Amino acid sequence: MYRPTWIEIDRAAIAHNVREIKARIGDQSMMAVVKADGYGHGAITVAEIALENGADLLAVALLEEAIELREAGIQAPILMLETLLPEHVSVASNYDVAVPVFSAEWLRQAKQHLTEIDSLRIHIKVDSGMGRLGLQTMEELDELLMELDSDLLELEGIYTHFATADELSSRLFEQQRTTFLGFVERVPHVRYIHAANSAAAIRLAGQDDPFNIVRIGIALYGAMPSDEMIPYYDFLQPAFSLKSQLMQVKCVEPGQTISYGATYTAPTDEWIGTVPIGYADGWSRRFQGYSLIVDGQPCEIVGRVCMDRLMIRLPQEYPVGTEVTLIGTGAPIDEAAHWLGTINYEVLCQFSKRVPRK
Ligand SMILES: *Cc1c(COP(=O)(O)O)cnc(C)c1O
Repeated sequence: MYRPTWIEIDRAAIAHNVREIKARIGDQSMMAVVKADGYGHGAITVAEIALENGADLLAVALLEEAIELREAGIQAPILMLETLLPEHVSVASNYDVAVPVFSAEWLRQAKQHLTEIDSLRIHIKVDSGMGRLGLQTMEELDELLMELDSDLLELEGIYTHFATADELSSRLFEQQRTTFLGFVERVPHVRYIHAANSAAAIRLAGQDDPFNIVRIGIALYGAMPSDEMIPYYDFLQPAFSLKSQLMQVKCVEPGQTISYGATYTAPTDEWIGTVPIGYADGWSRRFQGYSLIVDGQPCEIVGRVCMDRLMIRLPQEYPVGTEVTLIGTGAPIDEAAHWLGTINYEVLCQFSKRVPRK
């Protein structure tokens, strides 16, 4: 990459977050969730840091993501969180990747695709109220348990996922926990029982539940699951910064317009800086009007964001090469997320491969 636009990953921050979370979850194991390229931070980097600092297992969404970790030499247990087509279960077995099972029918089909040398580790996925993936009734569970009669299968876990763990007043959260515990009682001798994401892990810490893994995603990266979680997660350190540099700095005259559509007109003489990042990098056009940080000061994006660059209004002349912070100190990820009307999770994973991670 020759263009000075990059994502900076603070490895020490991730290490700190992992250790601090680990200290709060008692004797539960920590599963570091590194799906979507480690929430945009680089899955291999994050997995290695997490494992070095106390994480015990990894989770990804896709089989491709698991294979990437295995090919990088990572040997820790990996659980896939997304569903797999039954015809691909041998691949999961070959790479020693555990998969979720959510129906007896899926398992019946999967068994037909396993060969003698396979050994498929599975986690039963219960839909306790998220309405996404999983079985919903005891009958479905019983039917599924009857399909476990194969030596090629190893039932390793049972889990569920909360819909509202990051909302403190939610009744659904408690309901889901109770529902799930009902399913757990029906499945004796299962090694791993897990439910918590980042928000739930910190809320359920210290409670007398049979859960023995927490699945930590967003908090690893030092971002909040929601504003309501700030008091619980005040120790987090953000690991993600997005930076660039001024490529051209010019003085424009009153009346001059900036960028496509001429949507911005300079009211007086102004210093304008051109920054080499645009919507093809994942920096949305909707950021027009948002402020970036130069020399500690907010500088508004004026005119439309282009595919590969954007323009900001500077308070004074700055030399070409001056650093611009789009996300980082002075420009928190949550502010960018609020501006776009979304959550920090989406912002973190929207940057394209054009932006190198350092
Ligand atoms: C993504 C995901 C997580 C991690 O959630 P965070 O809120 O980022 O901690 C945990 N469990 C499942 C099933 C997920 O899909």
